[in-house]
Amino acid sequence: MAYPHPNLELRPLGNTGLKLSCVGFGASPLGSVFGPVSEHDAISSVREAFRLGINFFDTSPYYGGTLSEKMLGQGLKALGVPRNQYIVSTKCGRYVEGFDFSAERVTKSIDESLARLQLDYVDILQCHDIEFGSLDQIVNETIPALRKLKEAGKIRFIGITGLPLGVFTYVLDRVPPGTVDVILSYCRYSINDSTLADLLPYLKSKGVGVISASPLAMGLLTENGPPEWHPASPELKSACEAAAAFCKEKGKNISKIAMQYSLSNKDISSVLVGMNSVRQVEENVSAATELATFGKDQETLSEVEAILIPVKNQTWPSGIQQS
Ligand code: NAD
Repeated sequence: MAYPHPNLELRPLGNTGLKLSCVGFGASPLGSVFGPVSEHDAISSVREAFRLGINFFDTSPYYGGTLSEKMLGQGLKALGVPRNQYIVSTKCGRYVEGFDFSAERVTKSIDESLARLQLDYVDILQCHDIEFGSLDQIVNETIPALRKLKEAGKIRFIGITGLPLGVFTYVLDRVPPGTVDVILSYCRYSINDSTLADLLPYLKSKGVGVISASPLAMGLLTENGPPEWHPASPELKSACEAAAAFCKEKGKNISKIAMQYSLSNKDISSVLVGMNSVRQVEENVSAATELATFGKDQETLSEVEAILIPVKNQTWPSGIQQS
């Protein structure tokens, strides 16, 4: 099968030398986290994503209790292209059974992930939601263990993920420069919460690549709304519902406005959006290509921002850290 790779912009990821498609494929929905997804839909979504120029795929052993990694592995294998044509990140330390950031567990974890993904290496291995662990353990034990995995060729780069932004500076201020290559932040650079913006100059100064996940605020900024388990307050949920209804009334799609908002900041290497159907892949890629051609729909964005002002930057508690 030929893959034309149209004009989806590639952006450098910090000092890694990797170039990620500005839209990344978040594979948590392939773990049926947002509702059931068939194997056929999972594989077709991955194929369509790659065909349209998405080269970055993110998963975790936590998503769907390892189902996401297995589905993504099948989808990537079905592409039948050389391994260096796509970039894969998975995570360690968070599992359906709970958190474990010990050196022993994360060292075992990568072998399990590689088997499920049917890969020899991943490009990025990230400590998953570090605010639920001891940050000093992350600095002194987990990251040194990941450095050994790097030397062993099982991973190329090291990352950390979390919701509270303070966890990133805590770790990055304490590890040797160049040790942590990437951070993955989520729900912090979307229309309702843009607090990641304040951290971008610091991350740039350290040469750390920035992946911004959940541009649709884990479903808040979609016409269908969020899943049952979404942790936002009722106030935040109803403000986003009102914004989505406003867009629909106007003949616009809030998800497109939200994607274009996140994509507009070029200090973010990849906007990682969760997708589980060919249609969503096509819509999200179109949001990027239309943005590059025509620019943002500033009028609708301003109207949505006005609706969301009362809940702007409202978040929810996550983890055991205070920051
Ligand atoms: P998201 O904001 O990307 O929203 C995903 C939801 O929106 C899903 O229900 C999806 O089906 C739906 N959707 C996608 N495109 C759509 C469209 N065009 N129209 C309508 N609905 C659409 O949230 P997410 O999936 O949680 O985040 C994206 C990815 O980022 C995840 O899959 C995961 O890979 C990563 N992530 C990582 C962390 C972490 O490391 N702690 C946290 C959150 C997300």
